[in-house]
Amino acid sequence: MSQMRLNQLTGRWVTIVAERAHRPTDFAPRARLDDVDPSRPCPFCPGQEESTPPALETVGDEGRWRVRVVPNLYPAFHGDEGFAVHHEGPVHVMAEGTGIHEVFVYSPDHDASLDRLDDDTAAEFMWALKRRFIDHAATSHIRYTQAIVNHGREAGASLAHPHGQLLGLPFVPGEVLDEERAFARFAGGCLLCTTVEAELATGERVVFANDDVAVICPYWSGSPYELLIVPRRHELHLQDADDDSLAAVGRALRDATAFLNALIGDVAYNVGFHTAPHAHVGEYHWHIHIWPNLVTQAGFERGTGVLINVVPPEQAASSLRSVATLA
Ligand SMILES: [Zn+2]
Ligand SMILES: [Zn+2]
Ligand SMILES: [Zn+2]
Repeated sequence: MSQMRLNQLTGRWVTIVAERAHRPTDFAPRARLDDVDPSRPCPFCPGQEESTPPALETVGDEGRWRVRVVPNLYPAFHGDEGFAVHHEGPVHVMAEGTGIHEVFVYSPDHDASLDRLDDDTAAEFMWALKRRFIDHAATSHIRYTQAIVNHGREAGASLAHPHGQLLGLPFVPGEVLDEERAFARFAGGCLLCTTVEAELATGERVVFANDDVAVICPYWSGSPYELLIVPRRHELHLQDADDDSLAAVGRALRDATAFLNALIGDVAYNVGFHTAPHAHVGEYHWHIHIWPNLVTQAGFERGTGVLINVVPPEQAASSLRSVATLA
């Protein structure tokens, strides 16, 4: 069982996952993902279904599946209890790391990645995600679900086979609390609907947009080529979006990562899906962040929380548009 500990200096939770007991040498850099143990077959490839726990969800026929969701073998969050905070002495605050941790294998193809999905698979990716979110939202102790995709070792992927993760948490994490407060603070309607309108009006930070979705380099981008994908239909939760909207967002995610790839090369990146906490009332608008892993946060950034971005988003969007027209 992992443990949540409150960082009293920031008010944010930290997760201590002791089961994974790393040796110090495990942190030494490795050249390639597949070097982990080349003799071991990939547990996410078709034919290796026995090496994962039974699937929570399978899209397509057994044996010829297209998407497969399985429990994480090494869950960072696990268990059905609600969030119970304990005080240990005058200052230490902890809670059990309960929740849900799932692996989302979105392609049977070991060498596929988000940028290579066809239109159907891109849609299926988002529809399967929606079904998992509905499931998590109906689970009494889960207050927020974070979906992520890490691509490339530098971005934290530990297995090469394309996959994402779903983490159902018994609390609302600080990053999402901050965004909820920003939506509440913004006086001019929905913060993201207004952002998209403002960006479309000038176009200088728009990578591409249509009636369903807008992909922009945010005005406030904190790192080079950071991207924000905003569905045009205003919904609080990802699971409230209809099939057409989700399919369009899936294609946009595919195209955005393909443009990054065409412009920069096979760059490592993190994708974070932000949706309102399951029981949220008030303003929010679900969206997706893409953070290419091109720079390391250094002392100033860690010390102040102020990011230094050496590629202005206007320039990033212009470069990405130039490869978009070639695609
Ligand atoms: Zn594989
Ligand atoms: Zn909105
Ligand atoms: Zn966000």
